[in-house]
Amino acid sequence: MRFYITTPIYYVNATPTLGNAYTTAITDILVRHQRQRGADTFFLTGVDEHATKVWRVAEEQGLEAQEYADRIAVPWRELAPRLNAEPDFFIRTSDDGHKSFVREFLQRMYDNGDIYQDVYAGWYCVGCEEFKGEEELTEDGLCPIHLTKAEWIEEKNWFFRLSAYQERLLSLYDERPELVLPDFRYNEARSFIAGGLRDFSISRAGQPWGIPLPWDESQVAYVWADALVNYVSALTYARPGEDLRERFWPAVHHVLGKDILRFHCVYWPAMLLSAGYEPPQQLFVHGFLLLDGSKISKSVGDRVDPLDLIDIYGADALRYWMARAISFGHDGNASIDGIRERYESELADDLGNLLSRTTAMVAQYRAGSLRRGTTEPPLDFGALGADVAARLDRFDVTGALDALWEGVRALNQYVTAEAPWQLAKDEANAARLDGVLYNLVDGLTALTVALAAFLPETAPHILAALQQSDDLSWDRVRNGVAQEVDGIAAAKPLFPKIEPPAAAA
Ligand SMILES: [Zn+2]
Repeated sequence: MRFYITTPIYYVNATPTLGNAYTTAITDILVRHQRQRGADTFFLTGVDEHATKVWRVAEEQGLEAQEYADRIAVPWRELAPRLNAEPDFFIRTSDDGHKSFVREFLQRMYDNGDIYQDVYAGWYCVGCEEFKGEEELTEDGLCPIHLTKAEWIEEKNWFFRLSAYQERLLSLYDERPELVLPDFRYNEARSFIAGGLRDFSISRAGQPWGIPLPWDESQVAYVWADALVNYVSALTYARPGEDLRERFWPAVHHVLGKDILRFHCVYWPAMLLSAGYEPPQQLFVHGFLLLDGSKISKSVGDRVDPLDLIDIYGADALRYWMARAISFGHDGNASIDGIRERYESELADDLGNLLSRTTAMVAQYRAGSLRRGTTEPPLDFGALGADVAARLDRFDVTGALDALWEGVRALNQYVTAEAPWQLAKDEANAARLDGVLYNLVDGLTALTVALAAFLPETAPHILAALQQSDDLSWDRVRNGVAQEVDGIAAAKPLFPKIEPPAAAA
């Protein structure tokens, strides 16, 4: 099985927000899980550098646009590793490989007769990189998001004949009811198409920063005609000397926020068809993680620096909180205090204490030796594993983690119910005690393998403390995986107590 997954490429002109961290971390969870299931995977993320704003700010600062872009790309490149995310490639739209591919791609659309020249006149917000209808602006002609004056632009542009693709897109949607998830986003995209499609401009005139159109070098590819193509272009040069298109296209799953649904679910499949490519296999549109009621998005600029939260709680805790705080796919409110609460009561107490108790009891009652015993019925997490895998196939990241956490809590209840400290008092219960301790280590091993996609840094620590193999293959999410071992010692706390952050004052 092939599984290629992407985040959107992010605008470089600000620093990474919690919203960007959210998309990146959850995409990483999804790809790690598929890798555990044995899929041949590829994870792409990166940055969109050809924004008008980049060029304008560079000019203000007296820099070459490329020099400025190189500088501001740095925190973006660092974002994924800081989140314990492992993309296979980080694309920048100023890469030579991307630029030459975009020209080739647009030329194919042009040769197909889908590109024509027309005059574009309209209000344009530089912040949004988007033309706005009169009705989308405030009474004073301001962009409602940026509260800056929209600019009147009138110029000759090249247009893509999107209107010619309405029927083909509708049949694509009808043939593939899971093309867009969740369902309500599928419906939103489909009704947008059914409502009639307008051709859109794919170029801008008079800008030195961008990718010149091959048939008209006086114009550069306009934002989406450049940015969306990254999902294919990266495959042509991410591995020098190798063309990954055959391996990974169209086995692609695009993860994106609802604000860019139209571009991804409507424009992009049409552009692909025009250029002679298969449309993407699937698009997952997620909602906004609202922080204490305020939207976390790329353009408004929020004050929460995700990297600060990583410094306080660690990347795994942030990933865990983001996956669990709101239902992935929907909008939801979360609070910063929620991270601390989940860190303390769930990661430290539910999971951390489970490991501490389990290892301490094996060390104390069995001198660190784990034996299967014979009398205790096994705890079977195989059904849970199947449920979690099915959920993650539908991108139900939150449901999968909720189910796994039920498993963690079930193991804690098992400890309470079996009370190994009571069994340890009487030598007659020795076989039972062995069985109960084995079930605990075994269950925790299976759950840890299943949790590894969410907690990639923590999982190996748990397996090491249990003296179990670090093999994360998904077929280990079942009973009977734990090996009889010696030398289990009381584990150090997985999620140590943390001091309240000074920044909170
Ligand atoms: Zn705007």
